[in-house]
Amino acid sequence: MLKNILKSIVLLFLIFLCLYLIYIYKNPKIAVLCYHNIGTAEEKENFPEEKDWVITVDNFKEHLDYLKEHNYKTLTMEEFYNWKMGKINLPYKSVLITFDDGFLSNYEYAFPLLKEYNMNATVFVVGNFIEASTKNTWDGNLKTYMSKDILLKLEEEYPNIEVYSHSYNLHFQGAINQEETVLLEDVKNFENFYKKTDVFCYPFGQYNASAQNVLQNSEFKLAFKYGPNKKDYKKASRSDNNFEIPRLNMSHGMSKITFGLRLLM
Ligand SMILES: [Zn+2]
Repeated sequence: MLKNILKSIVLLFLIFLCLYLIYIYKNPKIAVLCYHNIGTAEEKENFPEEKDWVITVDNFKEHLDYLKEHNYKTLTMEEFYNWKMGKINLPYKSVLITFDDGFLSNYEYAFPLLKEYNMNATVFVVGNFIEASTKNTWDGNLKTYMSKDILLKLEEEYPNIEVYSHSYNLHFQGAINQEETVLLEDVKNFENFYKKTDVFCYPFGQYNASAQNVLQNSEFKLAFKYGPNKKDYKKASRSDNNFEIPRLNMSHGMSKITFGLRLLM
């Protein structure tokens, strides 16, 4: 009797496992990781008000180690887009690594590590933050942004790092709720400041139909969200709106075990 019950449970488990694997195969999903700032444990302690946005260098390295140990492919934006459009299939173990805002710490700590690990990533920069920054060397201040000089050097120094828009001057609460003409002007301003880009990341994850309209009319092909609710932190799937791509929040750091589990879910 007990043997039969056990047999039935094992059989049911195997059926569910098969169904789950078929579901994953038919509905592939890709984790888009969202980081912000990065610093040593000491630097993070020195800026307690920034702690939700800072991952320590050691913790970030653990994430990269996990990706390397488990043979994850780190995507270029083009690969992600082509997958999104159904033009290519990608390994189940694929991730897109992104950084928001354009902090100098990314250049100091994250980009060299990514290069060492032979991994790709994207940084979404805010035009006027970069233009206002004159710092080219690291002094431990986590509130420093990359300068324009550094941004222009990236292509040569770190071909594995792609740069896209996080707006020119819309990085404040509610900025997205302005007239379409203002949003359009911002797109033009970013273009003049750096170059024409076709991927956008909404400041504070805030978006609306007008913003999406402006992006679509300005030949953008993808726009990334950030929250605002925890339930919105999920993997991206092909069925997502191209202008509402979800991401997983990694900003404040995460243990290697939780990171691994988060990627599996
Ligand atoms: Zn931001």
